[in-house]
Amino acid sequence: MSRGSEGQSFDKLRMSGSVNLAKNQIVWLRRDLRMADQPALHAAAKAGPVVPVFVLDEDRPGDRAYGGAHRWWLHHSLESLGYSFGKHNAHIVMRRGDSVSVLAGIADEIGAGAVHANRHYEPWFREAEEDLRDALPDGCELVLHDGNYLLPPGTAKTGSGDPYKIFTPFSRTVLEHFPPRDALAPPENIAQPSAMPESDELADWDLLPTRPDWAGGFRDFWKVGEDAAHERLEWWADEVGDYDEGRNLPSQNTTSQMSPHLHWGEISPVTIWHRLKDKRSEGWKTYEKELIWRDYAQNVIMQFPKYGEEPYRDYDNSLWRNPNAGHLIADDLEAWQRGRTGYPIVDAGMRQLWQVGWMHNRVRMITASFLVKHLLIDWRHGEKWFWDTLVDGDYASNSTNWQWVSGTGVDSNMFVRIMAPLSQSDKFDAAGYIREYVPELADLPDDQIHDPDPEHRPGTYPDKLIGHKEARERALSAYREMKAGQD
Ligand SMILES: Cc1cc2nc3c(=O)[nH]c(=O)nc-3n(C[C@H](O)[C@H](O)[C@H](O)COP(=O)(O)OP(=O)(O)OC[C@H]3O[C@@H](n4cnc5c(N)ncnc54)[C@H](O)[C@@H]3O)c2cc1C
Repeated sequence: MSRGSEGQSFDKLRMSGSVNLAKNQIVWLRRDLRMADQPALHAAAKAGPVVPVFVLDEDRPGDRAYGGAHRWWLHHSLESLGYSFGKHNAHIVMRRGDSVSVLAGIADEIGAGAVHANRHYEPWFREAEEDLRDALPDGCELVLHDGNYLLPPGTAKTGSGDPYKIFTPFSRTVLEHFPPRDALAPPENIAQPSAMPESDELADWDLLPTRPDWAGGFRDFWKVGEDAAHERLEWWADEVGDYDEGRNLPSQNTTSQMSPHLHWGEISPVTIWHRLKDKRSEGWKTYEKELIWRDYAQNVIMQFPKYGEEPYRDYDNSLWRNPNAGHLIADDLEAWQRGRTGYPIVDAGMRQLWQVGWMHNRVRMITASFLVKHLLIDWRHGEKWFWDTLVDGDYASNSTNWQWVSGTGVDSNMFVRIMAPLSQSDKFDAAGYIREYVPELADLPDDQIHDPDPEHRPGTYPDKLIGHKEARERALSAYREMKAGQD
C-alpha cells in the first residue's frame, strides 16, 4: 500500500467509525522521543487514552544493535521524555524484548484500537512493522505517520515517477515542494487507561557505562532531550547567518550540533525549518541544504535497504587491503580508531569522537577519506566504528556519507580524488581544534601544528603511519589494478 493510501485509510477508518475512538491507543516510540510535532502521539492523543511504549529490542537489528554512545544518549533521552509525560500525569511503558511480541501483547492486554508510529526506514524497523501487522489482535491496526523528515521520503520523484538517486536533482525537487507541512503543537491533554501495562525501570536496562564510566566527556559536551534541542535551536537561530562561512572551520563553534537531537527525534526538522525560514541569509540557505542531505540519505536507504553493508558501485574487495589476503590492517585500523595515525587533524577528529561521541563534519570527511584511501581499508570498517561511537550514529546518514567518501555510492565522490589531510587542516584553520583534542601537540606553533617536522614532533606523538604521497600512489595503483581486473 502506498504512503498516501495508508494515510487515507486511517482517516477513512476514523470517518467510517471502524476505529473505536474510545479504544486505547498505543504510541510506539522509536527515534521520535519528543512531544512537539510528534504526529503519532498527536493522532493517538486525539483518538483515545494513550499508552506510549518504548521497546529495547536488541535482537532484531542484529549487528545494528545500539552502540555504547547510542545507549548513553538513549538513557538520557528516555529519562527526559519520561519527565515530559509526567507533567501530563502520564508515563511511558518501557519493555525489553522483541518489539513485535511486546507490542502485540500489550495491544491484546489493553484492547488497543491502534498502534501509532512514525515511519522509519531502517530495514529492521520496516521488517518489524510488517511482522507487527500480522501479529496485532483483531480490531487493532498499525497506523504509520510521517514526522521525521522535511518531506516524507518518496515525495520527491523524477519525471518518470521514481525516487531520485542523485542529490542535486533531489534537492531541487524538494525545494519545489516547500514549504514543508506545518509543525504540530504538543498535545494539551494525554489521557491514559486506568490500568497501565507493567513497565521496566529505565535504570535496570544498564544503558549507562559504569565500569569504566567513560562518559565524562559526553556529560560535559551535551544536554540531552527535547528541551535541550529547543534551547539549542534558539541559540542557533542567532548563529545560522554565519554558517556558510563557518561550517568548515572545526576550531569554531559554527555548526548547529543538532544531529543527535535530530537522529533521536527530540526535535523535528520541520520545527527547525519553520523557526529559521525567515532568516534569508546565505547561511540559512546552506543550512537548509544540509537538512535536505538528511532527507536524501533516508531516500537512499528507502531504495537500498542494505546500503550500510553493500556498496552500490561494482567495487570488488580487491581494492582494499584485506586481512583474508594476508594484509595486516588490524594495527592501522586500531591506530585510526584511537587517534594515533601521526596526522594531527585525523587524530584530533578520532579523539573528539571517542571523547564526546560526535565529530565535526569537515573532519568526518577527512578521517573517513584517510581510512579508505590513505590506509586502503574497506569503508565498512569505518562505518561500523562510527556507528558504535557516534551519539548521532544514523544508519542512513552514516552509510550514505561513507559510500560518498569511498566513491562506492549511488551518488559519490570519485575514488581517485584523494583528500590531502594536512593541507585541509591548514586551509580550514584547525590549529585550535588540534590543540584541544591532541594535547601533546598543544604547545606547537601554528606553522608546525598541522604537520610537525621530526624535530618538533613530541616523543609521545606517533610517526605517520604512511606518508601522504606514498599513500596516494598506493591508492591510485590499487584502484587501477581493480579496474583492470574488471575489464
Ligand atoms: C563519514 C561520515 C559519516 C557521517 N555519519 C553521520 C551519522 O551517522 N549521523 C548523522 O546525523 N550525520 C552523519 N554525517 C553527516 C554530518 O557529518 C553530520 O550530520 C554533522 O556533522 C552533524 O553536525 P551538526 O549537527 O553540527 O551539523 P550541521 O552542519 O549543523 O547540519 C545540520 C543538520 O543537517 C544534517 N546534515 C548535515 N550534513 C549532513 C550530511 N552530510 N548528511 C546527512 N545529513 C547531514 C544533520 O542532521 C545536521 O544536524 C556523516 C558525515 C560523514 C562525512
